[in-house]
Amino acid sequence: MKIIIIANRLPVKIERSDDGFNIIRSEGGLATGLGSLETESDIYWVGWPGIFTENEKEKKEITERLHDLNFHPVFLSADQIENYYEGYSNSTIWPLCHYFFSYIEYRADYWEAYQQVNSLFCDESMQFIEDDDIVWVQDYQLMLLPKKIRDKKPNANIGYFHHIPFPSYELFRVLPEREEILEGLLGADLIGFHTHDYMRHFISAIYRVLNINCNLDEVNLDNRIIHIDAFPMGINYEQYNQAPKLPEVKVKSDLLREKLGERSIILSVDRLDYSKGILHRLNGFAQFLENNPDYHEKVSLAMIVVPSRDTVDIYAELKTKIDQLIGEINGKYSKLGWNPIFYFYRSFSFDELIAMYDVAEIALVTPLRDGMNLVAKEYLATKCNRPGVLILSEMAGAAIELQDAIIINPNDTDQIENAILQAMNIPAKEKKERLEKMQKRISRQDVRKWSNDFVKELLSIKTQNKEIL
Ligand code: UDP
Repeated sequence: MKIIIIANRLPVKIERSDDGFNIIRSEGGLATGLGSLETESDIYWVGWPGIFTENEKEKKEITERLHDLNFHPVFLSADQIENYYEGYSNSTIWPLCHYFFSYIEYRADYWEAYQQVNSLFCDESMQFIEDDDIVWVQDYQLMLLPKKIRDKKPNANIGYFHHIPFPSYELFRVLPEREEILEGLLGADLIGFHTHDYMRHFISAIYRVLNINCNLDEVNLDNRIIHIDAFPMGINYEQYNQAPKLPEVKVKSDLLREKLGERSIILSVDRLDYSKGILHRLNGFAQFLENNPDYHEKVSLAMIVVPSRDTVDIYAELKTKIDQLIGEINGKYSKLGWNPIFYFYRSFSFDELIAMYDVAEIALVTPLRDGMNLVAKEYLATKCNRPGVLILSEMAGAAIELQDAIIINPNDTDQIENAILQAMNIPAKEKKERLEKMQKRISRQDVRKWSNDFVKELLSIKTQNKEIL
């Protein structure tokens, strides 16, 4: 039995070099979780290798090199990436699932490309899927794939995990392709979400759109049982918890602390995305500065925004608005030797990020919608040297597990202001207690548990379904 992970991207970075290609494994959360699966089975990956080439010789070379790692590339053209990935995935499904109704683009060419690329992924996987294998499809770029595989391999054991929110039926129903998408997902034996709410929305959608009834968390379809369940994704807790002690990280955090002196840091870290609530957060911080002059020169907001899709109009506009608002706030409140906001529009290395988590007294995580939000968990895990306070949006999936954070509605500027005040003044004992409770929770529910729980449940459904047949 093999385990086959199918995801939009392979966990590799491929660079052209003078003598061919450099292939570097990139260990994201998913790769770490799967790397620690308690299984004897070989793990295979299918995905886009992240490089464009039309040259068959190059494709062959990359394919052979990747096969050594058990990776199977699906080569996509620039056009396919534009229409399937940037288009249907990120301009239709992403805003739909994050409740940005007015940003949804409805385009036949996007849908066309989405179907086509899902079929390509199916063809590539079919070359080596055997009856006994476990197939685990990842995320919203590949929602048609479970059914496509099922049509060709009726006995396959297929799982699907949805890494972003699943919206309420009233929103989901606007999608012209709502039936095809749901039917695509129902090709799986196990459909996983981060939270029970997303799960509930999905169950309601299959009932309202397809008239399929769900018995608690089970659907009986074509002589198969399909399970729907919640698996909150975690992080590699040990890695984050130990990282601040690494000498190379400590040098960085000590230097930062020295430079900051007595000043407190409120940290925010996001990809550039409208779902992250960056403008709302800035407005909340501005109001805090306006109403609380005593805190001027005592606290700064360090805002890390990781560049993403900034050639797309909506994202470019968001970036301009962020730049402007930060300029206005700094222009209004700065004093010689103190800026209210330190703004970084770039990505940080792991060591730099840990150093920032380590020195920050407060993390301000206020997405308008977020499937989970791993930054919140990483921040908490990293607080082994200096305690910290997490302010967290109730709209993040992580809020379900992290009830000991200061939970706020990100649309309410007053709540952001008050939460910052509360966090600045929280008694040391309470701060420690809240932190420890949350650390305990996320250390138990780490990424290894997430992947093992999913695969275990998938295997048990396989046994159940065999008994039915
Ligand atoms: N991150 C990163 N480089 C940075 C800043 C953040 O790789 O410069 C990582 C961060 O450690 C986290 C991820 O990006 O693991 C963001 O995950 P999250 O779930 O918070 O949001 P997403 O971007 O997936 O919506």
